[in-house]
Amino acid sequence: MNYEITGRTRLTALLGSPVDHSISPQMHNEAFRHLGLDYVYLAFDVKPQHLREAFEGLKAIGIWGFNLTMPLKTAILPLLDELTPAARLAGAVNTVFLKDGAYIGHTTDGVGYMRSVAYAGYQIPGKKMTLLGAGGAATAICVQAALDGVAAIDVFKRKNASFPKAEAFFQNLTNETGCKIRLFDLGDRAQLQKSLGESVLLTNATNVGMAPDTDHSPLPDASMLHPGLAVSDIIYNPRETLLLKQAREAGCDAFNGLYMLLFQGAESFRCWTGLDMPVELVREKYFQA
Ligand code: NAP
Repeated sequence: MNYEITGRTRLTALLGSPVDHSISPQMHNEAFRHLGLDYVYLAFDVKPQHLREAFEGLKAIGIWGFNLTMPLKTAILPLLDELTPAARLAGAVNTVFLKDGAYIGHTTDGVGYMRSVAYAGYQIPGKKMTLLGAGGAATAICVQAALDGVAAIDVFKRKNASFPKAEAFFQNLTNETGCKIRLFDLGDRAQLQKSLGESVLLTNATNVGMAPDTDHSPLPDASMLHPGLAVSDIIYNPRETLLLKQAREAGCDAFNGLYMLLFQGAESFRCWTGLDMPVELVREKYFQA
C-alpha cells in the first residue's frame, strides 16, 4: 500500500527514556500503513525533568496523541486536561489523545490485559482472580478488572514499607467500583493457597521470573496450583517463565504477557484513530510467542 508522509500526516509518539528498545513504533506504523492512515509514530527520548517542556512543544505543534513509559506515566498527570475513569483510578497514564481540543490521559495496560485474558479464552467478569504484585502494571490490571465486573480480587505483595499505601489504594478501589479487593502479605502461604483455591485465574504482575533472573517463581510452592486454574504471567521475556512452566506441569492452562503488550497498543491505536488495530497482522509480524 502507498504510504508517505504528507502535509497532513498526524503525529503520534512514544515519550520515555530509554525508548530505543520499544516495539511500539513498528507495531503502530505497520497498522497505519495497512489501513492506509495518514499517521506516523515516532519514539522520543524524554527524561522526566524535560517532560513539561516536551509536552508544551508537542502541544504547540498539535501532536495527535502519544504513549508514555515510566516514570512519565505519573509525571504527566498534572499536565493533562482530563483523565479517563481508568486513568484516574490507577493514578497513571500511558496514552494521551486529543478530543475537542483537550488532551486526555488514559491507561491501556489494564484493558490490554483483560483483552489478552479474553483472547486466551477466559471470561472472568463475575468471578474471582488472584493477583501477585501491586506495582504499576498490577494496579492498572486491578482497576480494569474491577471496572469490567470481576467480582473479587485477592492481591498479594511483600509486606514492606509500601504495604499500607497499597492497602489504602485497594480499599479506595473497592469503594469506587464495588469489586471486593483484598490485599495480603505474599508471605502468607495459607491465605495464598486459599485464594488460589477460590480463583479461576492467577496473574503474576511482579518482576519475579523476568530475564535475566529466570530461575525464580513468585509462587512459594508449585503444589498450590490446581488444574482448573488458568495461570498468566505478564512477563514476556522469557516467553515461558518458571511460573508458567510450573503451571504447565501442574496441568493448568498458561499464557504470557505478549498479548497484553499487543492489546494495550491496540487500545492506544483505537484512542487515536477510532479504528481497530489489525491485531492478527501485527501479531504475526512482531508477536510470535
Ligand atoms: P513495578 O511498578 O516496579 O512493580 C513491581 C512489582 O513487583 C511490585 O509490586 C513489587 O513488589 C514486585 N516485586 C519486585 N520484586 C519482587 C520480589 N523479589 N518478590 C516479590 N515481589 C516483587 O513494575 P511494573 O511496571 O508493574 O512491571 C511489573 C512486571 O510487569 C515487569 O516484569 C514488566 O516487564 C511487566 N509488564 C508487562 C507488560 C505487558 O504489556 N506485558 C506491561 C507492563 C509491565 P513491592 O510492591 O513489594 O515493591
